[in-house]
Amino acid sequence: QSLFQTAPYIPPDAIFALTADYLADPSPKKVNLGQGTYRDSNGQPWVLPSVRKSRQILQDQQLNHEYLPILGHAGFRKAAAKLVLGNSLYQPLEKKIASCQSLSGTGALHLAGLLLRYCRGTSETPTVYIPTPTWSNHFQVYSSLGFKCQPFKYYDSDRKGLDFESYISALKSAEPNSIVILHACAHNPTGCDPSQEQWREIGATMKERQLFPLFDAAYLGFNSGNVDNDAFAIRYFVQELKMEIGLCLSFAKNMGLYGERVGCCFVVTETESAAKNTQSVLEMLQRSEISNPPAYGAKIVTTILEDEELTQLWFQDLITMSSRIRSMREALYNHLNTHKAAGTWEHLIQQSGMFGFLGLSPEVVRTLKEQYHIYMADNSRISIAGLNPSNVEYVAQSIAECLK
Ligand code: PLP
Repeated sequence: QSLFQTAPYIPPDAIFALTADYLADPSPKKVNLGQGTYRDSNGQPWVLPSVRKSRQILQDQQLNHEYLPILGHAGFRKAAAKLVLGNSLYQPLEKKIASCQSLSGTGALHLAGLLLRYCRGTSETPTVYIPTPTWSNHFQVYSSLGFKCQPFKYYDSDRKGLDFESYISALKSAEPNSIVILHACAHNPTGCDPSQEQWREIGATMKERQLFPLFDAAYLGFNSGNVDNDAFAIRYFVQELKMEIGLCLSFAKNMGLYGERVGCCFVVTETESAAKNTQSVLEMLQRSEISNPPAYGAKIVTTILEDEELTQLWFQDLITMSSRIRSMREALYNHLNTHKAAGTWEHLIQQSGMFGFLGLSPEVVRTLKEQYHIYMADNSRISIAGLNPSNVEYVAQSIAECLK
């Protein structure tokens, strides 16, 4: 009898399966609004000019393929921490930061979970509070590590916006020492972020309740086009509230390095000795998981962040991507109105980031896929980057027809 007789069949991941369906669809009209990957105005993947330059520099340096240290590229970890915190906050905190290069944002979230579980020792594994809806992998990553995942209501589907009252009341009733996942910006899938004032209240409540903020920063700089704006909540928690935080950073979206798997897990601790010890635990955990992280993506990022001119070029790239997304958001909104799509669509232009959360029923989502070859997540989240001047009116018109 097979050792694997008891293995259950797990259905494929919905978003990856949707991409496979899209690729297999022969229709020339097909539109992929599923996976959150940036596309240029011709619907093609975009290699950022800053990344192209960085690759050229590495090529000229006769790049080798040696192992990185277990914790990853030291220059990368430092440059990434400076980027997130900003120079003036980074300098005084440098020795209170533990960091470990990770397999993109997902790997950082996983590593943070391993660390938090390890540091609680034999006492009960804490609960992870997860805003709902959320990026579906949050539940998988933390439940696979044995955490109890507690969803809380983040979005009000009637008002089509952040449900701030539910958010605060969930924090107020959470057990002290629980972990709360915070989307640093560009909340996936709703595109609704707290205002700065709301972040202040969230922070104060978390501090009072002794909750641990675990920031998921997968869209830093990609949301507004400006890293400093997008890092507001992270910096506020550290600088003003003086809280310890965990931070999971990804360079997949903001540098278009999806497949290079380049990210970093940071913890800002209260004392230098805690940072030193925490980093040693991260090193031990990393060794048993992946031994050491991949080098190429980290070298690309470091080359950009350590060079003032390349950094400026990257800032331009962020503006290019975020502005194109914003203009497609507006174009979709305008076309929905021109085609008199039933309902109101203001929420679409109030949202920000990579996604639009349309609020369509599962039946409409299915019809759009089956009859119009328009692919989107079941919850009607669309990746706005999949829209371009050639398909945006078709998408709006199709939605309008489905809603008749
Ligand atoms: N967190 C959020 C909210 C995301 O949307 C994503 C990707 O879509 C990730 C984390 C992780 O992405 P990656 O592992 O590709 O960096």
